Amino acid sequence: MEHVLVVGSGVAGLTAALAARSRGLDVTVVTKSYLTESATRYAQGGIAAVTSDDDSVEAHVRDTLDAGAGLSERSAAEVVCGAGAETVADLLAAGVRFDVSEGRLARGLEAAHSRARILHADGDATGAAIAKALAGRLLDSGARVHENTFVSGLVLRDGGVRGGRLLDDSTIDADAVILATGGAGQLFAHTTNPAVATGDGLALALRAGAVLADLEFVQFHPTSLAVGGNALISEAVRGEGAVLREAEGRRFMTEVHPDAELAPRDVVARAIARRMREQNGAPVGLDATALGSEFLARRFPGIDATVRAHGWDWAAAPVPVTPAAHYLMGGIVTDGHARTTVPGLYAAGEVACTGLHGANRLASNSLLEGAVMGRRAVEALNLPWQMEPPFDGEVVTVSSGRSREHAGRDDLQRLMWQNVGLERDRDLLEHAIGTLDGWSVGPASDVKSAEDDHLLLVARAVAHSALARQESRGAHWRADAPGSDTTARHSAVRWEA
Ligand SMILES: Cc1cc2nc3c(=O)[nH]c(=O)nc-3n(C[C@H](O)[C@H](O)[C@H](O)COP(=O)(O)OP(=O)(O)OC[C@H]3O[C@@H](n4cnc5c(N)ncnc54)[C@H](O)[C@@H]3O)c2cc1C
Repeated sequence: MEHVLVVGSGVAGLTAALAARSRGLDVTVVTKSYLTESATRYAQGGIAAVTSDDDSVEAHVRDTLDAGAGLSERSAAEVVCGAGAETVADLLAAGVRFDVSEGRLARGLEAAHSRARILHADGDATGAAIAKALAGRLLDSGARVHENTFVSGLVLRDGGVRGGRLLDDSTIDADAVILATGGAGQLFAHTTNPAVATGDGLALALRAGAVLADLEFVQFHPTSLAVGGNALISEAVRGEGAVLREAEGRRFMTEVHPDAELAPRDVVARAIARRMREQNGAPVGLDATALGSEFLARRFPGIDATVRAHGWDWAAAPVPVTPAAHYLMGGIVTDGHARTTVPGLYAAGEVACTGLHGANRLASNSLLEGAVMGRRAVEALNLPWQMEPPFDGEVVTVSSGRSREHAGRDDLQRLMWQNVGLERDRDLLEHAIGTLDGWSVGPASDVKSAEDDHLLLVARAVAHSALARQESRGAHWRADAPGSDTTARHSAVRWEA
């Protein structure tokens, strides 16, 4: 193993690239925007890790499995949660300055965590602090970095992946490729994800023959500002005591779940979506007035500035919020060393499916997973290739469709929001699949059209996966099958040329 190509520069890609450089490997990082632009950069709440004596890895594993609603893999949870303290030490060594209180790392509480174990930096700018520190290290590391460069295909040779293809059809040859391209929030009309989250890595891996799993599990964040851009209002705000109120001002989550506003995200998001329907689409209010303006500005400086920039004083009155697509639990199936089902291809971070998140992600586990799996991919580079899929699933195939009618990205995002969003049923999903099958997006000649091509393929894979899962579980809600099927396991998707 000499040369490794890392695609993407979020927490997973940066960690992988730094780990590979520290082992003396020749590293090329390709990223389609600038180095620090990624979902990682926008992460607010923090990173979950066991760093105190009153907490334990077993408790973190248990919380993760509970959130995953019976589909999380214990082995993945043990690997990721077990590496929490070590990962935080690595991040501190890389220059991330986590917030400190009374001489110790400050630890916050978030939904469905049984202990206060969320570390944050600069209040609510944890991801930006991580991205900045790691990107700075990378630039000093001797890795080759290509910003504003789009990977549009994978080079397949000798039965494995041996590099990446760029839009001008040139290739970057490598002994191994680590995909760290993040999620696919841009599938939906409302998303907290940045513009780069177009599911590219999922499409590249599908076309290279990899198996993807659990794509029906899309986490919708309950609280994004109900204005364009859907700026996220972190769970941590509710963790500190903010409550949700319907239009008339009544608090409603206490009737929905014993944990009220700190119930699992899917429960809160669907409850808000239902209230919004009952209120003819009017958003609900997030009431943080009890926290006071001084505390809000100190603890949540970024959110405070965003909310005020939209003209709201959230210390004085509730602000309007709506759910938005936030995180993809499924992805490219990998084992505990980030190996996919195609030799030479590794995947880490949100693009991958280790089985950690199951049917629903525990808040703040994704930054941790990206950092842990980025490093573990590199640890596996010199091992003989041996990937045993960590779990089985009934495989659905997706193809490129009949492709007759040209569709724009807005059409796709609206269709996915309405038919493959928070509440699904057979009719909605069959309609979505029929419509998607008839759409084409034109030749993938530039970044926008290549992204559209990827979004269309991934949308088909998500819709097929949602149709195949005839039960409700975690983030996947089927109005025509509201109960859980205890025998149902992971779903899986393959591409058929
Ligand atoms: C608003 C917001 C808040 C969040 N808050 C938290 C939080 O508090 N705690 C937490 O744990 N998680 C949080 N998350 C989730 C978390 O940020 C992401 O899951 C995680 O950062 C993903 O990291 P990643 O490295 O896998 O991908 P990303 O950080 O998304 O990076 C993907 C990279 O791949 C590049 N890329 C994509 N496609 C291509 C291509 N074709 N060619 C070249 N480059 C490509 C992108 O440009 C980008 O650099 C939040 C997410 C959002 C959107």
